[in-house]
This record gives sequence, structure tokens and C-alpha cells, in this order.
Amino acid sequence: VLDLKHIRQNPGLYEQNCIDRNYNEQARNGWRILELHESLVEKQKQVIQARQRSNAIGKEVGKQAAAGAGKKETLLEEAKKLKELLSAFEDAEKGIQDEMEKLALELPNLSSQHTPVGKEPQVVEVINEDLDISRSMLSKSHVDIGKELDIIDFEASATTSGWGWYFLKNEGALLEQALIQYALSVAMKRGWKVMTPPSLVYSHIANACGFMPRDQNGETQIYGIAQSEHDRTSDKPGLVLAGTAEIPFAGSQASKTLKAEDLPLKVIGPSRSYRAEAGARGVDTKGLYRVHEFTKVEMFAWTMPPPDSEGDRFGNDDDDKLPQTEDVFTEMLDIQKEILTSLNLHAKVLEMPSSDLGASATRKIDMEAFFPSRQSIDDGYGEVTSASICTDYQSRRLSTRLKLPGGAAKLGWPHTVNGTAMAIPRILACILENHWKEDQGAVQVPECLRAYMPGNVAYIER
Ligand code: AMP
Repeated sequence: VLDLKHIRQNPGLYEQNCIDRNYNEQARNGWRILELHESLVEKQKQVIQARQRSNAIGKEVGKQAAAGAGKKETLLEEAKKLKELLSAFEDAEKGIQDEMEKLALELPNLSSQHTPVGKEPQVVEVINEDLDISRSMLSKSHVDIGKELDIIDFEASATTSGWGWYFLKNEGALLEQALIQYALSVAMKRGWKVMTPPSLVYSHIANACGFMPRDQNGETQIYGIAQSEHDRTSDKPGLVLAGTAEIPFAGSQASKTLKAEDLPLKVIGPSRSYRAEAGARGVDTKGLYRVHEFTKVEMFAWTMPPPDSEGDRFGNDDDDKLPQTEDVFTEMLDIQKEILTSLNLHAKVLEMPSSDLGASATRKIDMEAFFPSRQSIDDGYGEVTSASICTDYQSRRLSTRLKLPGGAAKLGWPHTVNGTAMAIPRILACILENHWKEDQGAVQVPECLRAYMPGNVAYIER
């Protein structure tokens, strides 16, 4: 399933890619695969020789038996030893193949030519650049605004669930629904189909999408659930809580064959996302910015790979080689920009650097909006959306095949692309902080959301 040949032919490329992406432990995997492949070829030669000798013995035993000679015993003894040897060779072959597969699975995707190497993102665009984000807006954080307007309750959730959960109340809860509906409407008018996914997924599906039990910093980011007695006894694989709808969306086509004429296949849907946020202890412990459970409207698409998939699969030589994938990616970014623009939020569009790409992305663009209250933490910007091209990284691991056009006998691998349309708690916090009117003691609801709020509410007031 994995492209072991490409890894064997380019171990240095994979090593540098791992280093650039902060996958230092995996940097030598490509070289190790190359070594293992050499020993596999050697084993295969030995297997062929052993089989040839075994066949020759078979013929000779026949001849010796006909002549009534006594050499037969010795030959049969040799044949028995060869049989044992062959079985040992076959076990060793399987062991080598499994080891190569394991090492290849641990590798991250190759980064695109657009990706800056290192840790610094590149600002490529600014949304609502002329909005006033002067320091005078430092007035209140969304935590205080939420409390004052009685629309967010962190005290109740501290009692029920602890740090990182929250109750949305009154207009806060209604605003969540309005944000979901608005995001869906923006994508649907461009032909995206709505789909709501399950929140629990098999752990092997999450792994195949690039979400490993531990991230490259060794932190557990995924919540597992205790198996029921019935699941344990029926050998059902373990389930985890999906950190993003990207996982069930990608998994929905696992082991299936898509038709080229049905691509691009574009879906959007709201779901609850669950994050252990293990490495984030101590940072963002207050408020909606970093929580354990949240609603997110996610976009996901399967697209056509470049015409020559055996060639440069990563679009590094010529951008035109990924036309459909790039088009859908651009459309996702347009949807994200349209949403942030119409919500009157000031945001930066960032080409994300290699160390920030995770396992599956070849390229990632994040948008960071201005949160007045975050000026006390950093520069005041916080990530609100993310979009990634995963080339065939996920489809190969999930065995999602593609029937190529023109009756080609060979099957291909579709590309996958994902992006946030609306991550509710961060956008909600951002709206509260940016649209707070101190003199009125109210938050102005952005025009585009009002049609989705009962009573067409223009202001959320005390
Ligand atoms: P990701 O799937 O990690 O790229 O996240 C997608 C979007 O979800 C981010 O751009 C954030 O807006 C939002 N997000 C991620 N993690 C959290 C969290 N722990 N709490 C609230 N929002 C989050």
C-alpha cells in the first residue's frame, strides 16, 4: 500500500524531510528500509536456490529409486533439511516486510515546495486589514464578557467536568447554532454536500489518517474509551474520540474505490471534536481558546492526483501537476476568508512551516485572527482555521483506491484535502472580544449571522 519504492530510491530526501518536520526519531527510517530491502533481496535469492535444489533432489530421488541405489536416504535427509530452511526463510521474509511497512508508516508526508523550512510561518495575506485593532480594544476578555452577558458558564462545567469544558447559554448557545448554519450555507452555495459524522472512530482509522496515539513530542492527544464487555469479547477493535471530523470523513471511504468522474468529492459537516491537549497544561487554561470538546464545521475532499502518479507526486516540479487538488484547496481557503471577512474579524493568512505540518499534510495554511485579550499572552493573534493538502498519504493508509479515467487497468490513489470552516469556541470568543461595545454593555452580532439567530438579534445585551 505504501510507496516503499519511492522511499528506497530517496532515503536522503525522507531523512531531510523528517528533520525539517521535527520527526528526528524517524529520520533514519528510509535508510533502514533500504538496508532491509537489500537483505530481503538476498533472502529471496536464497529461497530460489533452495527451491531449485529441492526440485533437483525430487528428480534425483526418482532416478536413484529406479536404479535401486542406496543414495536415496541421504537425498531424502537433505530434502527434509531444505524444507525446514525454506520455512525459516519465508518467516524471515515476512518479518522483514512487516518491519519495512512499520518504518514506512511512521514517516510523515513529504513537504511541498510552498512550505517554509523551519519554525516560522510566512504571512501571505491579511483579511480585513483596515479594521481598527488598536490597543484601546484591550477592554475585556471573552471570559468576562460571557459572564457579564450570562452566555457562557465556566463554573458549572468546572463542577461537572473540570478544566477545559464550558456551558454555552442563552444567546451564546444560539450563536453557536447560527455559526454552524452560516458556515454550512457558505460552502453549500459552492456545491459542498453536508454530512454529519460519528464522534467515535476505530483507533486504526485515526492512525491511518496520521493521528498517532502519541504525537512527535510524545504527548497523547487522543481520548480512548473503555471497551464494553461485549466489544472486548467479540474482538472489536478499540474506539477513540475523534479530534476532528477529518478522521471519520477520510475513513468513510476506506477500502473503497472512487471513480475519477465523481471527483472532486466535497463534503462539509459539523461535529464535536475532542482534544486531550496534554502538552497545553498551564497555557490558555481559562476561556474558550483551548478546550477539550468543541463543535467544528469541517470541510473534506477527495481529489484527482496528478496525471503521472509514479512521477513527482508532490507537485514539487510544476504546480500544474496538482490542478484539482490545488483548486479545491484554494476553494477551501476562499470559504474560510469569506467567513472571516463577513464576521468582521481581522486575520492573517499563514503558509505554515515544516515543523508545524503534523504527519499527513504536504502543505498547510492557517488563519490567525486578532483576539484583543490575547495581547497579554503574545502578539494577540490566535489560530482560527487550518487547511491541509495530504496528497495520497491518507488514501494509501486507508486503502481508498481510484479508478482512473479512460479504462486504465491500473488503479490510482486519490488525494485528500481538509480544512476548518468554523471552529466554534475560538470564533465565538473572537466575536465577543472584537464586537464588544463597552458603552452599550453589548456585543454586536455580525450582520451575516442575524438571519440565523431567532428574532434577528443585532445586539446581545445584559
Ligand atoms: P486542527 O484540526 O488542530 O488544525 O484545528 C482546527 C481548528 O480547530 C483550529 O484552527 C482551531 O480554530 C480549533 N481548535 C483546535 N484545537 C482547539 C481546542 N483545543 N480548543 C478550541 N479550538 C480548537
